[in-house]
Amino acid sequence: MTSKKCHYCNETAIVRIPYIKLRLCKDHFIQYFEQKFVKTIESFNLFKGIRKVVLGFSGGKDSSALLYLLHKYSELFNLEIYPIHIDLGIEDYSKQCLTIVDKVEGKLGIKCITVKVKDYGFTISDVKRLESRIKRPICSVCGIVKRYILNKIALELKVDAVITAHNLNDIAQYLLVNYMSGNVDGLVKITPKIPSIGNAVCRLKPLFLIPENEIQLYVELLEIPHVNIKCPYFNSSKKPLQQSLRELLIHIESKYPGTLINMVMNYLRNIHPILNRHVRHGDVKNCLICGMPTQKDICAFCKIRMKIQNLNDERSSSEE
Ligand code: SF4
Ligand code: ZN
Ligand code: ZN
Repeated sequence: MTSKKCHYCNETAIVRIPYIKLRLCKDHFIQYFEQKFVKTIESFNLFKGIRKVVLGFSGGKDSSALLYLLHKYSELFNLEIYPIHIDLGIEDYSKQCLTIVDKVEGKLGIKCITVKVKDYGFTISDVKRLESRIKRPICSVCGIVKRYILNKIALELKVDAVITAHNLNDIAQYLLVNYMSGNVDGLVKITPKIPSIGNAVCRLKPLFLIPENEIQLYVELLEIPHVNIKCPYFNSSKKPLQQSLRELLIHIESKYPGTLINMVMNYLRNIHPILNRHVRHGDVKNCLICGMPTQKDICAFCKIRMKIQNLNDERSSSEE
């Protein structure tokens, strides 16, 4: 059997990118991937007026790839990057994430800032233990905690933006989920750049047009360290509908290549501008307890923190 050649050179192709109908060798895939990253940032003007950024760096493949890319192109985009690792306090999983943080620091010669959720009085494992009494799915709480901490550090460091590593599959899934539940406020937030409002720092998603499988291949080819195991709460936490939608999107993409990119781009070009004009953006206040941005008097993070504190107090008084 003859191996297929790369579209651009005589090397053997290692991958076929179905939506552009090209087979690429290792070097040309890396070049294609990195050019797509740079072009996306340029065509959406993502870093216009942005110089200092905080990057949420979990150690997973997406944030590891993004840190590597931002580091590589920091001069081109004139960026000062502060990678922030949030230690969620999930036993072995968090330990493995910390090992990856060390490895990436060594590989790139940079320093990450590690923040422990425990320093706020609880861990994500405590949330799991109390999940039924908190009455909120663990991943929803974990998301609130991560957004809160990143925004807080961004304010403390006086940066221009918080960068997260959501990829094309994540964005396409959010679109469907929010559309199906009629969540217009959620839909309007699906955009690669949410500008700053009050204490809520600007949020950027530079990987929003890059499919998950290409990110996986990129980190493997460049041997970028990343966590290979899933969070132990991953399966128990995702709603079956969300998981089915994600699988459905992958299936549709394999049958009709380009569907995900077209879906997201069509949304951003044709639907998002209309929603953005008509949705009333709620006033952003400052939380009465911590001063962080919220649309209510008390922010979601403080509510969760107080709830956990109360449940722990109840438990210790019943044990006395
Ligand atoms: Fe947090 Fe859920 Fe992700 Fe685990 S799977 S890290 S609990 S969001
Ligand atoms: Zn080639
Ligand atoms: Zn608060």
